[in-house]
Amino acid sequence: MLKFEKVGKKYPNGYEAVKNISFEIEAGEILVLIGPSGCGKTTTMKMINRLVPHTSGHIYIHGKDITKENPVTLRKNIGYVIQQAGLFPHYTIEDNVGLIPDLKGWDVNKRKERVLEMLRLVGLDPALYAKRYPKQLSGGQQQRVGVARALAADPEIILMDEPFGALDPITREQLQDELLRMQQEVKKTIVFVTHDMDEALKLGDKIAILKDGVIVQLDTPYELLSRP
Ligand code: ADP
Ligand code: ADP
Repeated sequence: MLKFEKVGKKYPNGYEAVKNISFEIEAGEILVLIGPSGCGKTTTMKMINRLVPHTSGHIYIHGKDITKENPVTLRKNIGYVIQQAGLFPHYTIEDNVGLIPDLKGWDVNKRKERVLEMLRLVGLDPALYAKRYPKQLSGGQQQRVGVARALAADPEIILMDEPFGALDPITREQLQDELLRMQQEVKKTIVFVTHDMDEALKLGDKIAILKDGVIVQLDTPYELLSRP
């Protein structure tokens, strides 16, 4: 469904952050990108929605080269979740989820219905949380809202850049479990960046280990664990 073919990124300053990487993931799979800081995880992820345009190779979604697609159209199909949720502080939770550009054309009632459905999906009771503001929620709850927002327009692909990285270990584990439960229901194609191997093994259908801009190993968790 998502395919990288010898993809590279050379930044304008000449730095080659990603070199010649290839992989393919099927619809409904979670690919985890793992590796030390600076190895090219975020660059790789941002090339998928063209926040960072690749400079060599090809990226295909359903066999279509993403450079042939209008970036706005492309991004409508790709949700994005970042570490600190990135919620608008002056909007309620409901508006944070419902006011994304992709939902702009929707009928007010249909949109509201969708927002409430998404909040329930991520385990937040709308009756309690819809009218609150982000700072009235814990970090873990804010991340749930970030996930709800990414899912609201029903994109096929979700990019998650260390979404649980700033949470305490217990909340983090809880959200990992929630993500797996949710995934049973929504079956998204997910690219998940982390530097925590436990998290990678728990969530990944496939795990790509990056080092200095190249994939040094790409395996299922089972294969990774059964190798010396
Ligand atoms: P990671 O997500 O694994 O920490 P990044 O993809 O953010 O790594 O960065 C990979 C490398 O590319 C790093 O050395 C970083 O400094 C460099 N880099 C990132 N963005 C730019 C940029 N805009 N211009 C030049 N170098 C960059
Ligand atoms: P992050 O929170 O993703 O780690 P960074 O602090 O690495 O962000 O980067 C912040 C911004 O600076 C990004 O837009 C990134 O592309 C850019 N950047 C990162 N490293 C470099 C670099 N070596 N040269 C130029 N720009 C960079």
